[in-house]
Amino acid sequence: MQDCKIVIIGAGVVGLAIAYKISKDISEIIVLEKEDFYGRETSSRNSEVIHAGLYYKPGSLKAQTCIEGRRLLYDFCQKNKISHKKLGKLVVAHDKEEIHKIESIYQNARSCGVTELKAITSKEIKALEPNIKAERALYSPESGIVDTHSLMSFLHLKAKDNKVMFSFSTEAVAIEKLNSGYKVTVKEPNGDSFSFNTGMVINSAGIHADKVASMVGIDIEEQGYKINYCKGQYFRISNPRKFSISHLIYPPPTDLSLGIHITPDLGEGLRLGPDAEYVDEVNYDIKEADRHKFFTSVSKFLPGIVEDDLIPDTAGIRAKLQKPGEDFHDFVIKEESKLGLPGFINLVGIESPGLTACLSIAGIVKTLIKQPS
Ligand SMILES: Cc1cc2nc3c(=O)[nH]c(=O)nc-3n(C[C@H](O)[C@H](O)[C@H](O)COP(=O)(O)OP(=O)(O)OC[C@H]3O[C@@H](n4cnc5c(N)ncnc54)[C@H](O)[C@@H]3O)c2cc1C
Repeated sequence: MQDCKIVIIGAGVVGLAIAYKISKDISEIIVLEKEDFYGRETSSRNSEVIHAGLYYKPGSLKAQTCIEGRRLLYDFCQKNKISHKKLGKLVVAHDKEEIHKIESIYQNARSCGVTELKAITSKEIKALEPNIKAERALYSPESGIVDTHSLMSFLHLKAKDNKVMFSFSTEAVAIEKLNSGYKVTVKEPNGDSFSFNTGMVINSAGIHADKVASMVGIDIEEQGYKINYCKGQYFRISNPRKFSISHLIYPPPTDLSLGIHITPDLGEGLRLGPDAEYVDEVNYDIKEADRHKFFTSVSKFLPGIVEDDLIPDTAGIRAKLQKPGEDFHDFVIKEESKLGLPGFINLVGIESPGLTACLSIAGIVKTLIKQPS
């Protein structure tokens, strides 16, 4: 592999969006991806929801990039004919406690700058979704879904048109700081390894971003970059027509996740999930025994469902900086000159709403790049 100006580690939706965005103005970019193609990890294992930005801490990167990214993503999909649908979303509440929770979400969303949000009554809920039972709801017309694979395919093709070189089945295994730039060592599937030099490194390695950061000598515990895996499983409804759900239906969020929600997909299917559980290793198996938990959770607002309607689907792993029991952690999007690593950009903890935010995140990364000569 030849020397280059910029190496992007990771071809998920974030790495692809960065490659697309920066390759308009910069040449000699290489994307390294350890899997045999782009989008094999978290970017293919999520709810595919375009979030409105209701839940995040006002002023945080999550709030800012979600709201900006949502607008950019809708425009981008519209312009480039990428399948998506602005379905609208209901955050439903059943009792006093949940009503109180959705009232706080409403206030939070307003503080974040989300203006398109309405509190609705049980009668209005019935009019929108006859099969959903709830006392109150927040109606978010700007929430939607996107075909993530079409999005990634488009970003990949456009980046290739801009002469970005993609190297699949190529894992970054070591990074050494040089007087100017970095030496990156990679391993191929046959076990061969070799090194090349680059002016800059962009670490968008998803759930492995902490390992990539530590390769260059960053103390990930000290910097707060240690990623905690938090698994989310999905079940699918075997007979979606029985319910004719046309909006995204969410319960109030928990400390860990947005709650087990109902997501209509673009193929007219219905998915339930994800749940949330901290795990020690990457494993995408679905626990069949958790069917009952999913059923109990969803039957609260979808009373017509029976347990046999649920079939195991997929799972994904959240890249959480938040340890069990901790409070909100923001995305890390940082150029590391202060650590003595100029031109090394870390993206760590890019959990939800990373898909929604990908184009906005790419814009931030572009501003962090000082054009390498
Ligand atoms: C269950 C779940 C549901 C979610 N739902 C939503 C949602 O509805 N809406 C939303 O906006 N967001 C959602 N998210 C978040 C969203 O999926 C992620 O934020 C986004 O996909 C992150 O993209 P990425 O490119 O950073 O990571 P990834 O897609 O994981 O890509 C990182 C890539 O880096 C590669 N890599 C890692 N290490 C190396 C190495 N050493 N060398 C080479 N390559 C390497 C990996 O193989 C991988 O392909 C969800 C996440 C989960 C887990």
